Amino acid sequence: MKEIPLIYEISNEDRDTISLPQDIEFFPQEELPKELLRKDLPLPQLSEVEVVRHFTNLSLRNFGIDLGFYPLGSCTMKYNPKINEELAHLPGFTKIHPYTPEDLSQGCLQIIYELEKLLCNITGMDRFTFQPSAGAHGELTGLLIIKAYLKDKGERRNTVLVPDSAHGTNPASAVMAGFKTIEIPSDERGLVNPNILKKYMNKDIAVLMLTNPNTLGLFERNIEEISEIVHREGALLYYDGANLNGIMGYARPGDMGFDVVHINLHKTFSTPHGGGGPGAGPVGVKEYLTHYLPKPLVDFDGEKYFLNYNIPKSIGRVRSFYGNFSVLLKALIYIKLMGEEGLRKSTEIAVLNANYLKEKLKDIFNLPYPSLCKHEFVLSGKKQKEKGVRVLDIAKRILDFGIHAPTISFPLIVEEALMIEPTETETKYTLDNFVSVLEKINREIEENVDIVKTAPHNTPIKRLDEVLAVKNLKVKWG
Ligand SMILES: *Cc1c(COP(=O)(O)O)cnc(C)c1O
Repeated sequence: MKEIPLIYEISNEDRDTISLPQDIEFFPQEELPKELLRKDLPLPQLSEVEVVRHFTNLSLRNFGIDLGFYPLGSCTMKYNPKINEELAHLPGFTKIHPYTPEDLSQGCLQIIYELEKLLCNITGMDRFTFQPSAGAHGELTGLLIIKAYLKDKGERRNTVLVPDSAHGTNPASAVMAGFKTIEIPSDERGLVNPNILKKYMNKDIAVLMLTNPNTLGLFERNIEEISEIVHREGALLYYDGANLNGIMGYARPGDMGFDVVHINLHKTFSTPHGGGGPGAGPVGVKEYLTHYLPKPLVDFDGEKYFLNYNIPKSIGRVRSFYGNFSVLLKALIYIKLMGEEGLRKSTEIAVLNANYLKEKLKDIFNLPYPSLCKHEFVLSGKKQKEKGVRVLDIAKRILDFGIHAPTISFPLIVEEALMIEPTETETKYTLDNFVSVLEKINREIEENVDIVKTAPHNTPIKRLDEVLAVKNLKVKWG
């Protein structure tokens, strides 16, 4: 692929780029403070169409769900219906200021209110805060709520239990919230085993953080017993809802005994993500924890929606205003368009797609946990490693076929992990094509291993020296 020069490099002083009407009065430069004058800022001199082409070409060097299959396990890169964007771009939503008085923002408040009711229904929780901007932010918020609750009860519990299959944000959030963490090992089925869990329970345990289905895509089938064990010891159960899309419409964390949940709206409820956001990680709690939620909450007095600041034991704000409103809006649109039946169907197809791929791929790779999975599954590249090919090489080679690589090297309990989440929005044709790409790469490992070990070959940027990139970080132009 051809190099794209920097916009400054294609700029040419001879071009006459802008022509403004003569009768525009410019702000007299003499009146501006000298230090604010930006005389030598090299604005590129290009025609309009050259600017458009430059940025369109650049955008095509990136990868996104609209360009190809994106089976990035745990991240749920599903297709986001474009109608969500259309509606979220209506000026009534984009032009409203967060300080608009309640009387003039009834529609927006109603959106938050209705989304809360729907999420309570979907999860079996009693109230939600929408302030957290991502899953990890939700974890921190949820743990701060639990901390405030325990303190209020006069309890000193300092430890958070986290299974060894957990996402790294779980222990990180626990530490940020001021807890210690202890890791509990999964059993041979890849699950939290009640008998093992019991050995870790004591009066210092504040919370068990659990993802269900877990990061191996497996449903924690002993969840009721786990909940019993945790609560009997006076601890709470926290639900990492990043994988809610594997059970939505069929099972609810609230019914399983979870006290606090976060949901990644940008994963389960279809909002573009990747590249850093925006996301939303609303946190839901059971009734007895509602007075600790961040304020304000959105309430309805029978006539009007209003911002309720009367949350007596609130942990305070965890961000400005009411959260990432456009993400909330898109989640509401998605849920309403899908309906109850549609959400259940999306779960079914996500699970069907994952199991289909798992069965097709289990002979090429090693499948350490062969049971029925939910929305994702984890393979191991152990066999390939014996031939000198790491899972990183395979991931890089996949890019050559216009497909985003699956998540690799996570969860940590699987050697050479390849974590695949196809999502419900992909067709059988796409899945079959992915299988044939992996079969081809597996043949290459036998016949032409160099092509795998030096991949990618067809991407704008070839194999990076990742150590050098860390040690010699260069982020500045010029
Ligand atoms: C994505 C994810 C998180 C973190 O969520 P962010 O929205 O990326 O902060 C936590 N746990 C699991 C299992 C995840 O997949």
